[in-house]
Amino acid sequence: MKKNVVVLNCGSSSVKFAIIDAKTGEASLTGLAENLGNADSCMTFKTQGKKQQGDLVANANHAQALKAIQDVIASTGEKPVAVGHRVVHGGERFKEAALVDNSVLAAIEDYASMSPLHNMANLKGITTAQAAYPDLPHVAVFDTSFFQQVPQRAYLYALPKKLYEEHGIRSYGFHGTSHQFILDSSASLLNKPVSETSIISAHLGNGCSVAAIEKGIAHDTSMGFTPLEGLVMGTRCGDIDPSLPGTLQAKLGKSVSEINDLLNKQSGLLGLSELSNDCRTLEEAAQNGHEGAKLALEVFCYRLAKYIASYLIVVPSLDAIVFTGGIGENSSYIRSTTMAYFAHLGFSINNDENLAKRFGTGGNIAHECSSKPVFVVATNEEWVIAAQALTFA
Ligand code: ADP
Repeated sequence: MKKNVVVLNCGSSSVKFAIIDAKTGEASLTGLAENLGNADSCMTFKTQGKKQQGDLVANANHAQALKAIQDVIASTGEKPVAVGHRVVHGGERFKEAALVDNSVLAAIEDYASMSPLHNMANLKGITTAQAAYPDLPHVAVFDTSFFQQVPQRAYLYALPKKLYEEHGIRSYGFHGTSHQFILDSSASLLNKPVSETSIISAHLGNGCSVAAIEKGIAHDTSMGFTPLEGLVMGTRCGDIDPSLPGTLQAKLGKSVSEINDLLNKQSGLLGLSELSNDCRTLEEAAQNGHEGAKLALEVFCYRLAKYIASYLIVVPSLDAIVFTGGIGENSSYIRSTTMAYFAHLGFSINNDENLAKRFGTGGNIAHECSSKPVFVVATNEEWVIAAQALTFA
């Protein structure tokens, strides 16, 4: 029997929604309400393979969007047994998903000081959905939980220790639900129990992160106090010299929030290429000789390879390197360019398999003589959220 869970990912100006059968991962509905608070707010959804436009007023707010989503859910005739909410920051308290009650709501609000845009939007999504579905259990599933077993030597910054103790300044890690899914899928591909599976997983979407997972437990990850640290991303810079924000503020006469905007929204692939944050556009432009696009892709792959290489020491029982996310699942160019850095360590890619793995087709892209497999796996964060929510239904 189906165990349908409504999965909500409420952002500052959008709500992503789905009905997922938590047993199989199958989605009977997926959709997106976006540009909330703007004149061009709109909603699209897909059910039974058909894409449709939803009914959403101009300047719709979150409550109006959730009401419209509730109507779409009702029209499918599916009967949800729980609502799973993606919550970005769960601090050190939430080592796993939590049934929402007043103390959980208060904690999510508390952690908003570390992730203001995300957590406040997540909170709004939860309280509005609670009013819409008062009889269903609401479950908060945190991006950070998967990394709560990372050892202190990996999560502490070398700053005065008081900053950690008094203000929670440490690395938390994000994309946890995706890395969890990749771990579970890799265990299936390797035919091993999850607790015996060791991988380095690279989630490469608009945001990008790498996780070092030894015997089923995350030991390190590239995102830090916020999702800005680590890899080169679509518009985020990832690692830079920590003195740069201050220097840039002084040199450019910009405010703290303007510098934050520059690092989060104008950097990464977009900033380097001066063309686009979209990997497809950059690959095409690079093929046509665009120097900025070539450079941006080169820096992206080099940084990624450097992170994966550093995690080879964190994951001594390595079973496989795994790529996922829009770029990881589709870009044979990024995968082969990155893995070329590992040729002297015995890794080798099968070009035909690499080219064939896209649009949801996953599997091993390593050559048979490669020292370890290299997997491509299509991530399914919604399924992880649904499965965790079901445990409370
Ligand atoms: P998000 O993090 O917003 O969920 P996605 O996981 O959808 O993002 O990834 C978006 C990225 O995936 C974009 O950079 C896009 O260019 C890239 N991408 C999607 N399809 C392809 C493709 N066929 N080849 C290369 N890159 C792709």
